[in-house]
Amino acid sequence: MKRIGVLTSGGDAPGMNAAIRAIVRTGVAHDLEMYGIKRGYQGMIDGAIEAMDARSVSGIIHRGGTLLHTARCEAFREVEGRAAAAAQLARHGIEGLVVIGGNGSYHGAYKLCQEHGIACVGLPGTIDNDIGGTQYTIGFDTALNTAVEAIDRLRDTAASHDRIFFVEMMGRCSGFIAMYSGLAGGAEEMLVPESITVISELVDILREARARGKTSMIVVVAEGDDAGDASTIARKVREAAPEFKKTRVTVIGHLQRGGTPTAFDRVLATRMGVIGVEALLEGKSNVMTAFENNTVTLRPIADSWETYNKFDPDLFRLAKLLSV
Ligand code: ATP
Repeated sequence: MKRIGVLTSGGDAPGMNAAIRAIVRTGVAHDLEMYGIKRGYQGMIDGAIEAMDARSVSGIIHRGGTLLHTARCEAFREVEGRAAAAAQLARHGIEGLVVIGGNGSYHGAYKLCQEHGIACVGLPGTIDNDIGGTQYTIGFDTALNTAVEAIDRLRDTAASHDRIFFVEMMGRCSGFIAMYSGLAGGAEEMLVPESITVISELVDILREARARGKTSMIVVVAEGDDAGDASTIARKVREAAPEFKKTRVTVIGHLQRGGTPTAFDRVLATRMGVIGVEALLEGKSNVMTAFENNTVTLRPIADSWETYNKFDPDLFRLAKLLSV
């Protein structure tokens, strides 16, 4: 293999740049010709493909977002779209791909390999930490720390005004950010898609906490909670318990996506980038890099959608135990 392409696809995540840097420099170290593909699969179809060298990735290890830009691409879901993309790769002589993204991006890579024989390796890049087969994804740790900082700040103002804050974190299908940030921020309750939310039980928890002398409280809500978003849940609580009229809602939103990647995410991205390129050199394909027990390994790419990365349910018990 002489030419490898790299792209970022789906939602951006802090640490993607560190991964791009590691991929390009590992390729250069192995005398490969490296290509950056801009705007994910859309850029592949459009032929937005440029040669990269070691200097192309200077000064990006500490930057959030992605130097290569990212996109979602409906056309790539179709056979014809993937054929057009494969034709562009052939034009540039690219035989191998490193795809940094989530489950959807991996599905695309898998099909490109099956239909056109392009060797593909996936690097898990998403703040949600919801990719099966790996215990950590690139970007989760940074997003988590941003979320915790937000809770810390809100706690200051909540305490000053005796208020209940409902804080909405990203996570449509996965409560990793909400659960971990709630634990790290000492929140009174975390509402996540992994468990059913019963408003009367939440009201009981808040009333009991108030009876124990708590004047301000933080409830962390994952955006995909079954009882609704943070505003809806705050309204339901006010309706069920008028004594909690001093509620405030904060949606952290896209602030969680941006920012300087943490050292953990940079190191994870770096390790995964190197191992991803070396996997292609060893002739491997349709594999993903995975973080397991402090080691970066390779797993079948299908593990990302055939298995689920779930947090330890014992965290619910810990949260309850400590929110006294
Ligand atoms: P995130 O977790 O940030 O949403 P993702 O990679 O899962 O990341 P998606 O929007 O699901 O994000 O997928 C990114 C792109 O991958 C899609 O826009 C599409 O081009 C391609 N893709 C997704 N699913 C498929 C599929 N089943 N077949 C072919 N291509 C796909």
